[in-house]
Amino acid sequence: MKTSKTTSLPWNEALRALQQGRSPLVITHRSPDGDAVGSLLAMGLLLKALGRRPTLACQDPVPTRFHYLPHHQEVVSEVPEGSFDLVISLDCSDRERMGQVYDADRLASLPLLNIDHHVTNLNFGTVNLVVPTAASTTQIIYELVQRLSVPLDVPLATCLLTGLVTDTLAFRTANVTPQVMEIALRLIRAGASLYTIVQRGLVEQPLSALRLLAVGLSRMQVEGHLAWSEVRLADREATGYQGDSDAGLVGRLISAEEIRIAAVFKEVKDGRVEISMRAAPGYDVSGVALRLGGGGHPAAAGCTLNGSLEAAKARVLPLLRAALAEQEDGRHSEH
Ligand code: AMP
Ligand code: MN
Ligand code: MN
Repeated sequence: MKTSKTTSLPWNEALRALQQGRSPLVITHRSPDGDAVGSLLAMGLLLKALGRRPTLACQDPVPTRFHYLPHHQEVVSEVPEGSFDLVISLDCSDRERMGQVYDADRLASLPLLNIDHHVTNLNFGTVNLVVPTAASTTQIIYELVQRLSVPLDVPLATCLLTGLVTDTLAFRTANVTPQVMEIALRLIRAGASLYTIVQRGLVEQPLSALRLLAVGLSRMQVEGHLAWSEVRLADREATGYQGDSDAGLVGRLISAEEIRIAAVFKEVKDGRVEISMRAAPGYDVSGVALRLGGGGHPAAAGCTLNGSLEAAKARVLPLLRAALAEQEDGRHSEH
């Protein structure tokens, strides 16, 4: 992150906010993934090292796969009474991603430090430490840890490495640079267990997840270089899968060498549909997600729509077809 491109990033403003806030409220995104939980707990440890007593909040519970992370029990889904003087948002591309724990009536007048790596980030904070070249939000927090000379102990290294490992699918994504590997090496040297993080945070799944995956794969639709599938609420009941993820389905669709863009439509509670999108290297789904009120990275993005599965497909598939056609044209004209 020490390239000339990033010298204009507000590192000093972010450090000042961290040092000035006495009672920070730290929030990560709803439906938290490994980077969300890892960055929330790492920020908690960093603030405690600075002598603060942070409140760590997330609308949805920490998934059991991350229960190896130290202090995960401290994350609350209801913000307690008390006065805060700083809000820190982690791994959220817009204010809405913080979900119900961000109560605007109570918090909108406070300074908001937005720390994130999504290219679609709306810069909704008072200070926006947004680094799209970072492979994870924990990579940005690692840099803050260095700049604040906070000692890297095993719990902190474990939280930081969890974000790096899960957002890069164990260092397999196109944004993994030598610098990412160097940071990972330092975190492993500090005592983080790469094996535990890869196994528990990324690989292990209950049998019910495999059953859900089988159902999802059986519904795969392919049209040229585009693939999609869906997961219905009834499928979760039938397979007994408790989580709210797609059990890795969209990752399997994009792994097909013929496929450039893939999407999974997940029916969720309250008449909404969550859409997970993936793009092969050289393609970009973040623009479509942003247009639909969501966000993400070029290779992995998502959004949530109200209405039925059929309505969601009718809205999203034409946009994905158009993005694919446009991006294929762009690639041909480059050669
Ligand atoms: P997922 O498909 O859930 O693994 O998400 C892939 C990427 O898209 C992640 O970087 C998410 O942060 C982002 N994303 C997913 N859903 C949303 C949403 N509703 N709003 C904004 N970003 C999202
Ligand atoms: Mn995330
Ligand atoms: Mn992330």
